[in-house]
Amino acid sequence: MKDILAKYYGIINPKIIQLDSNDKMNIGYGSLNYKIIFNNKILLLKIYKHNKKNLNFVKSENRVIIHLNKTVGDIFPKITKNMLNEELSISKKEGKIYRVLTYIEGEFLAESKHSMKLFSNLGTLLGKIDKELVQLEDPHIESRKIDWDIKHLYSNRKYIAYIKKAEDRKIVEYFFQQFKENVVPHYYSLRESIIYNDANDWNILIKKEQIIGVIDFGDMVKSFLINEIAISLSYLLTKKNNPIQWVIPFIKTYHKIIKLKVLEIDILYYLIAVRLCTTISKSSFHKKDAPKDEYISVSKEDAMLLLKKWLTINPIFFKNEIKKALNISIKKQISDKDLIKKRNKYLSKSYSLSYQSPIQMGKAAFQYMYDTIGNTYLDAYNNVPLVGHEHPKITKAAQKQIGRLNTNTRYLYKNLTDYAKLLLKKFPKKFTKIFFVNSGSAATDLAIRIARLHTKNKKIAVIEQGYHGNTSVGIDISHYKYSRKGGYKKKKNIIELEIPNTYNNLCVKSKSGYQYAKEAIQKLKKEKKLCAFIAEPIIGCAGQVIIAKNYIKKMHPTIKKLGGLYISDETQTGFGRLGKYFWGYEMHKTVPDIVILGKPIGNGHPMAAVVTTDTINQSFENGMEFFSSFGGNPVSCEIGKEVLKIIERENLQKNALIVGKYLYKKLIELKNNYKTIDDVRGCGLFIGIECVNHKGEPGKKEAKYITNELKKKFILVSTDGQFENIIKIKPPLCFTKNNAKKLVNSIEEIIK
Ligand code: PMP
Repeated sequence: MKDILAKYYGIINPKIIQLDSNDKMNIGYGSLNYKIIFNNKILLLKIYKHNKKNLNFVKSENRVIIHLNKTVGDIFPKITKNMLNEELSISKKEGKIYRVLTYIEGEFLAESKHSMKLFSNLGTLLGKIDKELVQLEDPHIESRKIDWDIKHLYSNRKYIAYIKKAEDRKIVEYFFQQFKENVVPHYYSLRESIIYNDANDWNILIKKEQIIGVIDFGDMVKSFLINEIAISLSYLLTKKNNPIQWVIPFIKTYHKIIKLKVLEIDILYYLIAVRLCTTISKSSFHKKDAPKDEYISVSKEDAMLLLKKWLTINPIFFKNEIKKALNISIKKQISDKDLIKKRNKYLSKSYSLSYQSPIQMGKAAFQYMYDTIGNTYLDAYNNVPLVGHEHPKITKAAQKQIGRLNTNTRYLYKNLTDYAKLLLKKFPKKFTKIFFVNSGSAATDLAIRIARLHTKNKKIAVIEQGYHGNTSVGIDISHYKYSRKGGYKKKKNIIELEIPNTYNNLCVKSKSGYQYAKEAIQKLKKEKKLCAFIAEPIIGCAGQVIIAKNYIKKMHPTIKKLGGLYISDETQTGFGRLGKYFWGYEMHKTVPDIVILGKPIGNGHPMAAVVTTDTINQSFENGMEFFSSFGGNPVSCEIGKEVLKIIERENLQKNALIVGKYLYKKLIELKNNYKTIDDVRGCGLFIGIECVNHKGEPGKKEAKYITNELKKKFILVSTDGQFENIIKIKPPLCFTKNNAKKLVNSIEEIIK
């Protein structure tokens, strides 16, 4: 090194310190960097591999910094020429290019205190740089294609697999997919320019809120102009509690210099997210070669934390806040009032809406839902999106299959049997046959039809407050429906059984499961024959009332003796929600004859199924064809398969167990401190909070109040139960402990 410096630059006996390479993540064009100290001067020596591409690019880089020093200000490195008055020293023999720059001393932005003023200075600076770059033409920069260019995001797809944690990987995949939906369609409308492409906090030097240095132009590309801002912000916003607050001063000053276009603002949210995804994916890939490299780990962790925070920001809020700050008009959505008017015009009034003032939903991601005016809701209620709203694997599976083939079971296709096999694996061996339909109601209806054909009996035993579906048969067997407003009298073939547990404090029942069963058996024995006993393991509409221990076990022999079948409705409780159990019937230690599956089976795609045994199926095979136009179609099968895989991959059943236990414990603490809460019950992430008023009566008003106030705090729950005094909690299974903490703290604030 000393020989080189002496030979080319006449620098004799300097002190040489090797610096971190800027090629840590292997952009291909990298250099070894050395700090050179001599005669009270400090210089930077950069050594590149000699090839035509590098040579051309280094020349372009030099040209840019010379230009920027002249036009933007004296804050870019200056080129130190060699003794032959050349900007670069080339040794073909050694295969190297030597480049000497002035060394800028100062504090890195990454290590300094951030302030709004500093951020507005950064916006101005980047605006000034881009104003110059926009006018620049350079074939060597323009022809470049690198992974760090957001435009070529998809070249980083291959690295996603190296992200170790499945729960992190899914978020990265989600934003890759959002990019495809929200950015790619605009590829030919976005303005392009040469951009610096790396205004990160280790490339900017500051002193007293003033920028004194901008270094490393090795990432320059021709890309979408807006990517410049996205890249910078993806670094600057890490460790910020309220990112949008920091975006505003930055973007306002940039906009003063280069007017942003509406489309650019509309997609910025996604561009920042995917830049974080690039950092995370690439560093996960490189981590395997350099497991001890802290630089890689730290930047990855910071990026992941910000990406997780990003999910809590409604993209509409993000763009609207920027537009407000820049005085750009915001496109108006249809108002809730107008939409309600339209609903009333086109839909029956028998439809209902949640909350005093309903929510117009626009989008969702995992356990978060975004309304159309910019709010983000924490979803503690929706159990259909079991693996999370818009899970990227589900979206991908659906999109891929729908673009290929969507037909019906009268044709042969492999996904049907693959899925059937996979699903049956989740059951005891005696279950060998599956029927696919499109709703829990259709599944219930079919289950009853199968039971009738098998047993040739008519009587069906149901439990108070049970709900099983909206078809005629569904209503007939749903006490929750036929016994309430608008319901008709119990049908003759229905045997109504008392709800086997304590479920509200007006009717405190302290009987054991055996006792409940004894009384139910007496009632059943009055009938000579039984077609079926249908029950949910935990009765959802009653307000998450767990059927008392031993009740079903004790009842089962009598059901059998009367020739009946035990049908477990797992529409709410199945697929790992209960944490300890994959299927709810497991908690009652009795294996049913028929199982009904619905809601979470397709994570929102209309799917349901009936699972039964060979023997029972044989009675059903009576010559009549079974056909469902949509049940078991290839798209549903692909989605169903993905749901099962995601539950395993992301350990969601275990998460339901851990977070459910934590949530339950916290809610019990609340119950012990506040009289409004009379009972907390449930299993895993299927929990009910029973509210009472000051007289100790069912607290419908209290439950409704808490639910509506939670909505004001942007948390979704619902109420149910005979007296509508139970708050129901049944979130997507990716719900975290922090989410649970937020929910409990908010309930406490409201009760207080
Ligand atoms: N069974 C149970 C236990 C349910 O909770 C529901 C829906 N709430 C159904 C059946 C009916 O399912 P679907 O709405 O998909 O028809």
